[in-house]
Amino acid sequence: MAKLRFYGGVDEIGGNKILVEEKGTRILLDFGQSFNFGVEYFAGWLSPRAINGLGDHFEFGLLPKISGLYAENQLARTDLPYREPEIAAVFLSHGHFDHVAHICFVDPQIPVYLGVGTKLFMESMEETSSFCDYKAHAYQTFRTGKKIKVDDIVVEPVHVDHSIPAAYGFIIRTGESTIVYTGDLRLHGPRKDLTEEFIMKAKDAEPDALICEGTRMALKEKRKNYSESQVGEMSDKIVSSTDKMVFVTHYSRDMDRFRSFYNVAVKNSRKLVVSPKTAYLLSKLVQDEHLDLPDPLKDEHVCVYYKRKKSGTYDDRDYYLWERPFMDKMVNCEFVHENQRNLVMDLDFYQFAELIDIRPEPGSPFIHSMSEPFSEEDIEDEVLHNWLDHFGMQFHQLHASGHLNKEQIISLVDEIDAKKVFPVHTENAYLFKKVNRHVQLTKREKDHII
Ligand SMILES: [Zn+2]
Repeated sequence: MAKLRFYGGVDEIGGNKILVEEKGTRILLDFGQSFNFGVEYFAGWLSPRAINGLGDHFEFGLLPKISGLYAENQLARTDLPYREPEIAAVFLSHGHFDHVAHICFVDPQIPVYLGVGTKLFMESMEETSSFCDYKAHAYQTFRTGKKIKVDDIVVEPVHVDHSIPAAYGFIIRTGESTIVYTGDLRLHGPRKDLTEEFIMKAKDAEPDALICEGTRMALKEKRKNYSESQVGEMSDKIVSSTDKMVFVTHYSRDMDRFRSFYNVAVKNSRKLVVSPKTAYLLSKLVQDEHLDLPDPLKDEHVCVYYKRKKSGTYDDRDYYLWERPFMDKMVNCEFVHENQRNLVMDLDFYQFAELIDIRPEPGSPFIHSMSEPFSEEDIEDEVLHNWLDHFGMQFHQLHASGHLNKEQIISLVDEIDAKKVFPVHTENAYLFKKVNRHVQLTKREKDHII
């Protein structure tokens, strides 16, 4: 009999870490970081010390002590002895932080299976920040249709639509049981057909267990959500009805949203201004022919914003190596200021200081294309609005979620009709139980027999 053990994603949105075991073979589905990771002990600049490996994490129980999983150097200053790998493989559903971040602690000898596009995201993440050494791993890429055999366990990745490209659900066949894992998915994005295909294949597999995400499983949806095409249409209305600069902010890895704003800029004969980091990510992702994204080096509608450095001369030596390839496409604050009516600018909250140099005209629209704040006392949200007020900018909230809504989750669970259902990636697992008799409440770090 197969066994499931949940090390994360239980009563929380994110942090998925799911162990599947049969006949001594153990694989992990995702190994992400919780959104509330360490909030009780760490804040601001007070964070776990990289030099202490997993020592600071284990001190506060922030990561599970799993034998035969972690790299030897990460365990050097902990009480968990290093063992040769006892986990046969890790499978990553997609490249969001809450599904992949803790991979950096995993023993590099353990193979990590991931989508072709997800690998490009991981490389870009590694090359443009000092965050984590992802490269060390023995990556094995897959696409839909591939079946990966790990001892007696066969994993079949099936693409789904989510707010990042290269997202997959998994159909896992152990000798005696079939388990379906949804990863994160939605049905209102540009590729809803992918999610529909996944649901169909999952249903045909007649699974014994379904591990289902429930991000938007809530008594009442409080936030306004649109479809991706509505975000595009409404942004187009905003851009086409102003002669001022339009600023947008969105999750950096949401390439559907990037494409929506790119299309709106092109349609309105404007150029899209992006950061060197976005240009770098695009230059990686164009390597995947399935993604249909503009090449920042060749596309005439994309230009790259370089911040002023100390020398004031925009000398390439002032910039990181990875920032330099796009300097032919460079625009600076003076150019942006002078060409406001011809531009749409991708501006991240943490880059707001650039507004002081750009000096946008009062009345310039700002499209916040991310989730609304989780609490009314969100400090960043307050600061964001102070900046917009200071520059007399007009705020618009326009977002399409990366997840199924409540009704869609319920009908997915009904449709797939597994013998047992385990909610993950949700704060409201009890609501699943109300609507489907096969639902079991997932318990953290306890064995669930399939
Ligand atoms: Zn996700």
